[in-house]
Amino acid sequence: MSKKKTKKMKKDSAVAKSSGKAKKYVYSFGGGRADGNESMKELLGGKGANLAEMAGHKDLRLPVPPGFTITTEVCTYYLNHNRTYPKELKPQVDKALAEVEKLMGKKFGDPSNPLLVSVRSGARKSMPGMMDTVLNVGLNDETIKGLIDKTKNERFAWDSYRRLIMMYSDVVMEKAEGIEPKDGKGIRKLLDEHLEKLKKEKGYKSDTELTVEDLKKLVSDFKKMVKDVLGKPFPEDPQEQLWGGIGAVFMSWNGKRAVEYRRIEKIPDDWGTAVNVQSMVFGNMGDDSATGVAFTRNPGNGDPHFYGEYLVNAQGEDVVAGIRTPAPINEASRNDQSRNLPSLEKIMPDVYKQLFDIQKRLEKHYKDMQDIEFTIEKGKLYMLQCRIGKRNGVAAVKIAMDMVKEKLITPEEALLRIAPMQLVELLLPMIDPAKEKTVTPIAKGLPAGPGGAKGRVVFTSKDAVEWAARGEKVVLVREETSPEDVDGMHKSQAIVTSKGGMTSHAALVARGWGKCCVVGCEGLEIEEKTFKTKSGEVIKEGDWITVNGTKGLVYKGELPLVASDIEHNETYVELMKICNKIRTINVRANADTPKDALQAVKFGAEGIGLFRTEHMFYGEGSDKPLFLLRKMIMSKTPEERKKALTELETYVKRDIKATMEVLNGLPVTIRLLDPPLHEFVPHSEDKIAALANELGVDIAEVNKRGESLRENNPMLGHRGVRLGITYPEVTAMQVRAILEAAGELIKEGKKAYPEIMIPVTCTVTELENQKKIVDEIYAETCKKLGLSKIPFLYGTMIEIPRAALTANRMAEVAEFFSFGTNDLTQMGFGFSRDDIGSFLPDYLNKKILKEDPFQTIDQEGIGELIEIGITRGRKTRQNLKVGICGEHGGDPESVKFCHRVGMNYVSCSPFRVPIAILAAAQAAVEDKKAKKKKK
Ligand code: PEP
Ligand code: MG
Repeated sequence: MSKKKTKKMKKDSAVAKSSGKAKKYVYSFGGGRADGNESMKELLGGKGANLAEMAGHKDLRLPVPPGFTITTEVCTYYLNHNRTYPKELKPQVDKALAEVEKLMGKKFGDPSNPLLVSVRSGARKSMPGMMDTVLNVGLNDETIKGLIDKTKNERFAWDSYRRLIMMYSDVVMEKAEGIEPKDGKGIRKLLDEHLEKLKKEKGYKSDTELTVEDLKKLVSDFKKMVKDVLGKPFPEDPQEQLWGGIGAVFMSWNGKRAVEYRRIEKIPDDWGTAVNVQSMVFGNMGDDSATGVAFTRNPGNGDPHFYGEYLVNAQGEDVVAGIRTPAPINEASRNDQSRNLPSLEKIMPDVYKQLFDIQKRLEKHYKDMQDIEFTIEKGKLYMLQCRIGKRNGVAAVKIAMDMVKEKLITPEEALLRIAPMQLVELLLPMIDPAKEKTVTPIAKGLPAGPGGAKGRVVFTSKDAVEWAARGEKVVLVREETSPEDVDGMHKSQAIVTSKGGMTSHAALVARGWGKCCVVGCEGLEIEEKTFKTKSGEVIKEGDWITVNGTKGLVYKGELPLVASDIEHNETYVELMKICNKIRTINVRANADTPKDALQAVKFGAEGIGLFRTEHMFYGEGSDKPLFLLRKMIMSKTPEERKKALTELETYVKRDIKATMEVLNGLPVTIRLLDPPLHEFVPHSEDKIAALANELGVDIAEVNKRGESLRENNPMLGHRGVRLGITYPEVTAMQVRAILEAAGELIKEGKKAYPEIMIPVTCTVTELENQKKIVDEIYAETCKKLGLSKIPFLYGTMIEIPRAALTANRMAEVAEFFSFGTNDLTQMGFGFSRDDIGSFLPDYLNKKILKEDPFQTIDQEGIGELIEIGITRGRKTRQNLKVGICGEHGGDPESVKFCHRVGMNYVSCSPFRVPIAILAAAQAAVEDKKAKKKKK
């Protein structure tokens, strides 16, 4: 293209830009209409998109206080441009604010009739409490007069003013400015202490006892304190307050707790948050006002009842902060803690009925359980928020299955509603019911997160993190949790709080993670390093407690935990049925004992994808086989070795036979001995002496032989198939044990289907070499047992990049491939799987890697090797069976990848089988959807 032409095009586009419409950064909602809608979460954040939907969708048009959303794009701009805004923003905000003023019949900053607004965050995905909010923006010494005049409620106005100063100085003037408080005591804490001091002086128990005069004094004291501590006065100018609030919410996207939460939840840093500016409505205007949080179904167990809590004469944050015990909205929401409090249904029947109808409409509209926030101002109901409600795993399964029955969603949609890892909660251990019956709880609270857990008591998030880092199991006990505690909560086995309800921060976060949690334990008094129960029992830091999160009970000491009773959970069984109908990829388990195999089959495993022979040399009952293995390893001559092997064969055959019997004809992939022999060399003196005695040599000779097996780099050393190449008799023994075990089962009228798997191969010639041995032993065994055939397959693991690249050759001999992605990741990346822990955190923190490649398959690199392996392998052998048996086989994202690249099965640890089954079914549904879209 000529230079001239390029120049002209540039000029044209510049003209188009300048004459075109300014980019839209602000979206209004309210008064029965909205600029945006629910599908615009990326731009408007979850809260903004749903406010628009509630306000503007023709089927809803709910009573939403009018307002506007500033897009996430502005957040990204602001953070990347030294805290400045695109120039189009200000006029768009002014225009949107004018619309709100018109709808409300009030004016922002007007001393006679002021409009007050809230400034709230709202990211694409909800991050409960992790970012900042400022309420009552627009109040100052002048506008308060108008507010008093209009509301005729002086106390309320001054209370709102002191709240604004507290929030604003904390969020806008301190946090957003990056001011590190002196002695760790922020302005909010100082103001809180001042408030408490005044209450103490006056002998008040609750904030509601503060008089107008008290509040006036507080406002004046607060202003002085803010100026003294932060060096700047609290701004009286409403515009300055508004823009300060907007900037602070954007800044809070990069606040410590938001960043931490994103890391845990894997939320990308570049999404940014939107800001919602909305006219204030007040739940704290007297006894005809209230505020609450509710769910269209119970998020703790999935029961299909409207469920929620409210507080009379309070502002929204009060419910979430757990400062006062909230009351139930209806009878279905009543719990031990709220047993004597009146329900909303009882005290405001008309408003309750309206709320009930709205929640029904919302659930029908969104076709999913909704979490809603509402405020009642002088008897008038306002909807402040709705979003898909977080739920624990138990509730997720129940809600999804119930909605299928109610014909609200299809079975396919239901599957996609459950995060595979949520099933872990259904498999969670619980306190042994027999033992639990015999003990009395020391505390009782609300069941906020399911399952049983135990640990040593810690009282701060920091301690939880530190203790967990040194391998301690801890339970975090706090009055209430705040977003600052997320890291410690994550590291704890369970969380216990003395305050707060089912919608408190601790409950919300624990529910999202499926963590064992009990909130609002009655009468629990927490001191610095101890807590005292209602009955006077004192528990100190470091003491053990056991928590029943399903029932809301806390016990002293360690109680035994047992596996859950999942097979009898009807909704779970129903879910698995649907998954099994839909999925196209099989799920097997990695198991090498009959007990594990049985567990896996109960969970729905369709075979064993990895039986690691060496596991019979570790742990319980391994003394004798290990001794014989050591004898074999220390043998000098083939004769000595053969003798030891003959003795060992009995044990190998016994264990393999027992597992194959449990599988009853389902395939069992048995991998021949894999680890470097040096791993089995004895170290204790008595074991060395016993071995010397058995071999008829002295101790020095045993030590010498052991030393000769030492390697500098054992994972790349004499292991896997290499052992079989050097010691063919070791392969022969194992193959004989496998085929005889299968043959004997067949002769006993049972079924058996072994798959002999050769590990750590890199060339087809290794497979050919070992195949010869297999063929010989096969002929011998058939003859010995008088059988014409013993069905089996011969295959290999693909763990070395070269094996994947030469898969066409490998498949000439191998009838199946099983991708050993642990080693394939190790050898593909060149990361030692045993040593990566020392530098992986740097790689993740500095975003060199997005994820630990040993947990989730690196689809870009290792995944490419897998795809090449499958394609080339199947070019040679069309019906080549392909699976995976590395740890990734139980990781949902990796399972989906395995489905996409056409594997026949995934294999994972028994407790991951249900997770893999659900992920496999989801992969099939997503596949179908994608194909439909393509068409
Ligand atoms: C693998 O490498 O992925 C594998 C399953 O084998 P192991 O973990 O026993 O080396
Ligand atoms: Mg391996």
